[in-house]
Amino acid sequence: MKYSILVDAYDRIESTTKRLEMRDLLADLFKKAPAKLLAEIVYLTQGKLYPDYLGIELGIAEKLLVRALSTASGKPVETVKSSYRKTGDLGETAEKLLGQRAQQTLTRRPLKVEDVYAVFDKIACEAGTGSVEAKIRLLCSLLNDATPREAKYIVRMALGRLRLGVADMTILESLALAYVGDVEAKEQLERAYNLSSDLGLIARTVASEGLGGVLKLKASVGRPIRPMLAERLSDAAEILVKLAGKAAAEYKYDGLRIQAHLKPGSVLLFSRRLENITEQFPDVVGYLKESIRLENAIVEGECVAIDPNTGDMLPFQMISQRRGRKHEVERMTGEVPVKIFLFDLLYADGEDFTVKPYPQRRAALSEAVAESDWVEISRQLLTSNPQEIENYLMEAVSDGCEGLMLKSVGPNSIYQAGARGWLWIKYKRAYRSEMADTVDLVVVGAFHGRGRRGGGYGALLLAAYDEENDMFRTVCKCGSGFTDKDLEELPRRLRPLELPHRHSRVDSRLEADVWFTPGLVLEVTGDEITLSPVHTACFDVVRKGSGLAVRFPRFTGNYRLDKSPEDANTTGEILEMYRSQLKKITT
Ligand code: ATP
Repeated sequence: MKYSILVDAYDRIESTTKRLEMRDLLADLFKKAPAKLLAEIVYLTQGKLYPDYLGIELGIAEKLLVRALSTASGKPVETVKSSYRKTGDLGETAEKLLGQRAQQTLTRRPLKVEDVYAVFDKIACEAGTGSVEAKIRLLCSLLNDATPREAKYIVRMALGRLRLGVADMTILESLALAYVGDVEAKEQLERAYNLSSDLGLIARTVASEGLGGVLKLKASVGRPIRPMLAERLSDAAEILVKLAGKAAAEYKYDGLRIQAHLKPGSVLLFSRRLENITEQFPDVVGYLKESIRLENAIVEGECVAIDPNTGDMLPFQMISQRRGRKHEVERMTGEVPVKIFLFDLLYADGEDFTVKPYPQRRAALSEAVAESDWVEISRQLLTSNPQEIENYLMEAVSDGCEGLMLKSVGPNSIYQAGARGWLWIKYKRAYRSEMADTVDLVVVGAFHGRGRRGGGYGALLLAAYDEENDMFRTVCKCGSGFTDKDLEELPRRLRPLELPHRHSRVDSRLEADVWFTPGLVLEVTGDEITLSPVHTACFDVVRKGSGLAVRFPRFTGNYRLDKSPEDANTTGEILEMYRSQLKKITT
């Protein structure tokens, strides 16, 4: 298939901000693609080569691309740089400069999608000495064969900034339209996606085997399952009503969620965002090998840092230090030991447990685990009594937990992979009139700083996630709580997400100086949730002409790198916090 077909579709997708139009354009593209190439097309369209959990990145630095562009266009590096400074987008620079290379393009052969993918794949595999030169050579070969318009997307892809803004759910809808002829079939595709975390696999399967093939896809060791998530409420009696009068109340441990995949001779650990974090927790790998009595299994648990002197649980910040410092893992493993509290069993020796009710999963988990000093099953109390829940909450908090997870034990209490639903409800310590709980918000924009912060960001525009409409709606402008180190670090983290305009999934009434693709999640605390005419979360819901906002927001210092933007607090949760504040004030 010609790469130009992909590029035509990308151009059209880029110029629309309407999700439905984007969906239809994608469906048209998918229909044109041969089934055997569809997985690759889906990955490329999301700016990837493989599903995220494999952690394979292109890893091409901006500097390298500038060099490749200089070679391919025959222009000096300085010319490339100065054009880049003007356009702010190296893709556009590529289009412009390669457009001036008329004679060479006469002899070029049309690029195929297969070729582009294969070259990128080779680039991703290059490592070690000589790899920089090899990457440049490979890129130049691609750029030499590319038309200027194709070069624009090749360069953006190489930089990891394709910026089409196509969400997973849009791809699933487009696949349903293209291959089942019914957008409603997205539900079944989504279930299979939630069990496999691999959109390419779903695409290839639906294109070659139809919906029947997709329905046969099952959980499998090695492919992470998208995590089930909880709703939140602030009243024990209300929670019991939601859970049909009876609940499994469990400690809500304050650590890192881990999904462990075990087969003979191997253990893989995935984070809440489904990154492979096996190397960061060699100790946990060892403990699980010892404790789990199944050959093949997928279990979930919360990994908590433990004070080696007292055995007490330590707050989340302690375990988060293990992340991202590969070379220091060994030292940290000695200094901050961790313990895993298992709370679910999703797969066991050929059987998919996600479809079984929770009591059955829990019983099988208890059977499969030999508890030790380092592996425990989450503490649990089966109860129908709100007062018992209150008492258990106190106990959990005094033991160092964040609160409780209340879980349905009804016949329909399946593991809802990838969904936030009412089968799990979190009940945290303090929902007082002042905002005692923190919120996790997505950075969608920034305002230039003045004075000491001149040249950097003065404040960030933060948003909550509106699940229903797949949008990010603003809740505050946050300029407090940032240390000097944060002020240095933020541009480094945010620059790759910069956009020349507001992202199509961002709803804002404020005009930021800089816009970002929603990507970075920060933990923020504030005084309370208030009505605000300038913020767009829950706009018109509580009062006409007002949204909800966090008053006096402060960054807590926690970068929630374990959360994707869709995992941030939802606008529904902000509304719930607002309402529970009112309730506490009036009672
Ligand atoms: P939070 O930031 O409050 O941890 P979250 O968005 O990460 O929320 P939720 O589904 O809202 O995730 O809350 C459940 C989280 O609580 C899980 O992701 C898991 O990490 C953690 N957790 C701790 N103990 C348990 C438990 N016993 N059962 C399920 N989840 C637990």
